[in-house]
Amino acid sequence: LIQLYMPLNFLGTLYREMTQGLVDIETMFDLLDQNPEIVDRPDARPLQVREGTIRFDDVHFHYDADRPILKGISFEVPAGRTVAIVGPSGAGKSTISRILFRFYDITGGSVTIDGHDIRDVAQESLRHAIGMVPQDTVLFNDTIYYNIAYGRPSASRDEVEAAARLAQIDGFIAHLPEGFETEVGERGLKLSGGEKQRVAIARTILKSPPILILDEATSALDTHTEKEIQTALGAVSRGRTALVIAHRLSTIIDADEIIVLEKGRIVEKGTHHVLLARGGVYAGMWNRQREAAEAAERLKETVEGD
Ligand code: ATP
Repeated sequence: LIQLYMPLNFLGTLYREMTQGLVDIETMFDLLDQNPEIVDRPDARPLQVREGTIRFDDVHFHYDADRPILKGISFEVPAGRTVAIVGPSGAGKSTISRILFRFYDITGGSVTIDGHDIRDVAQESLRHAIGMVPQDTVLFNDTIYYNIAYGRPSASRDEVEAAARLAQIDGFIAHLPEGFETEVGERGLKLSGGEKQRVAIARTILKSPPILILDEATSALDTHTEKEIQTALGAVSRGRTALVIAHRLSTIIDADEIIVLEKGRIVEKGTHHVLLARGGVYAGMWNRQREAAEAAERLKETVEGD
């Protein structure tokens, strides 16, 4: 039996290590999401971000030639400002963030950062300049410390802890059995969408890029978590150029400009108050979300009252 058990045990270990390796490789691919069609030009230069102004000028894009997704999008995110993009599911919001990160090349128009077309610069420098907080952050099968420090592996312990505080995830970590050393990811503690997003924000605070893309998680959050995320987003976007893909309108009330996207076109632009007063698409979305939130609150009170 021992003879049989030994190789089985060994195989089991090997299998575990292999799957662990595979999971991490997959995670890496998810994170990088490399598109082999996107290659640097032979004369590509590193992007030097001086101010961080983003411009989309008459941008057209499709994944499949017979289905246009962006149909002439123009907007600017001035240096240090926050612009939010809202609109119904499938409008093309996340596509805009993928284009800025140059996961895909556009089919018409131009995208520039401080006047440099992003197709002319070295991809590595572009991605170094942009911090991406994705909808659903993939965590490494490692400690929560490692997952935050990944934003800048040379960061000191104090810097990692400060980033966790700014991202409003320190209280959560303090309650974990092993604090920062707690294993997370598929084989460790599973984090909720809101917790994962705050880990991603802490990572980005450490990376400290001049430009940010925040792709807000679609998942519903309770009011408390939502407030924490909002504070965390405020901390990470201060002094940086930020493009926020928003699903919950309550998180972008303070954005310098809100762009309403519908079927690949910009249908409204303005601040929260201007758009509300206008009584158009944005005002309709706002009222629907407010009614839904109020109904959820009433339901909660009824359930808790029982
Ligand atoms: P949501 O609010 O649901 O996240 P969105 O506005 O961010 O939606 P996008 O993710 O930008 O929408 O998608 C826009 C359209 O492009 C959708 O119809 C989607 O099905 C399509 N699409 C997205 N990714 C791909 C892809 N890799 N290949 C083909 N079509 C895609």
